Amino acid sequence: MGKYWNEQIECMSREDMKKLQDERLVKQVKHVWDNVPYYRKKMEEKGVTPDDIKSTDDLYKLPFLTKADLRDAYPYGLLAKPLSECVRIQSTSGTTGKRVVAFYTQNDIDLWEDCCARAITAVGGTEDDVCQVCYGYGLFTGGPGLNGGSHKVGCLTLPMSSGNTERQIQFMMDLGSTIICCTPSYAAYIGETLHEMGYKPEDNKLKAGIFGAEPWTEEMRREIEKSLGIKAYDIYGLTETSGPGVAFECEAQTGMHINEDNFIAEIIDPDTGEVLPEGSKGELVFTSITKEAFPLLRYRTRDICVLTREKCSCGRTLVKMCKPMGRSDDMMIIRGVNVFPSQIESVLIEQGYSPNYLIEVDRVNNTDTFDISVEMNADQFSDTVKDIQKKEAELVSAMKTVLGINPKVHLVSPKSIARSEGKAVRVIDKRKLI
Ligand code: ADP
Ligand code: ZN
Repeated sequence: MGKYWNEQIECMSREDMKKLQDERLVKQVKHVWDNVPYYRKKMEEKGVTPDDIKSTDDLYKLPFLTKADLRDAYPYGLLAKPLSECVRIQSTSGTTGKRVVAFYTQNDIDLWEDCCARAITAVGGTEDDVCQVCYGYGLFTGGPGLNGGSHKVGCLTLPMSSGNTERQIQFMMDLGSTIICCTPSYAAYIGETLHEMGYKPEDNKLKAGIFGAEPWTEEMRREIEKSLGIKAYDIYGLTETSGPGVAFECEAQTGMHINEDNFIAEIIDPDTGEVLPEGSKGELVFTSITKEAFPLLRYRTRDICVLTREKCSCGRTLVKMCKPMGRSDDMMIIRGVNVFPSQIESVLIEQGYSPNYLIEVDRVNNTDTFDISVEMNADQFSDTVKDIQKKEAELVSAMKTVLGINPKVHLVSPKSIARSEGKAVRVIDKRKLI
């Protein structure tokens, strides 16, 4: 195991972890109360003071923070340290609206990089590895986070950033990269390009990939594992809580362990705000208990998932979150039916299509239209029009079974859907533009 394997924390008993979280929470609430007037006001409005928070059992008493609060308080309203102690800002990708910024002290950066180092260690990374980071660098947290983690583990780090795919592949081959970090949609694109350049999966030295920053399905995982000849692991995080590394997958590949020494996770009912028992599906809420500059308490992520404390075969006792099933605001309501893009991705890959698709929703004469363009591969493309129509009908029927409504499916020519080098854009909902 690499030097960032932290058995003491990662395999800590539940009681000890709770004790650690209790202590850190009490301290953090005091820090926020003293230094963040915006949140203090929220606490006062709810009639809560730091004296009411004696342990994690009292967490439910604290008010939630939402993305709207972050936008409201932009840019400095939630800062809990003087700017002179802050050394970095990062920003969200702006997937669902105006970007928000997060601040870091040097200690915050260290803890964040430690989380990423744990993730790399969990996939077998050591100082003998060559780690190619092709998440975007800059304001986006993906590149800087994994870059820092890779340094800490002692891997030879290739700070490639995203894009320039042929150069990525050349470096991967020339330098013998063994670990690759990027979004899953970009990993699929790299796999496709490798194939087109005439490489077989066994021609590269890659053993593991750490993929996150966007939702991806189990079917997509198998696709990527096959095309790159690797094991593909999930990693989760958001800028508001530091970035990637809040949770990471172990060799079991059955969900991500949350770094509970830094983050307390809760699952709530997104409509009522009520805390749900373990094993329930709901919105994930995080409290950062070690962050200094931007310590969000009870931050609503809008990501829908399930937490489980079932024993993991890797020996870690850290609570596990399942793959987020998409954000609550990714969910489309089409003709009254809830539809997640991930359901569509599962059907497509199961039916032998590539994960290159685009969903378009509009409203014509008060009725929702629902179109899915799906790329054919070269073999499928050579079919006759009649064959293609038959395949479209088969896909519509498979979709109907899973979604409960009929989309219009359009099989389109190979390469006609734009590839993603970062977070893929899978949905165009024109109803929202009206
Ligand atoms: P933005 O919210 O603008 O996309 P971020 O770049 O901070 O900003 O992205 C964080 C979000 O990305 C998370 O809230 C979540 O919705 C998504 N995300 C991150 N990692 C994963 C993952 N492994 N699986 C699914 N979604 C993820
Ligand atoms: Zn595990």
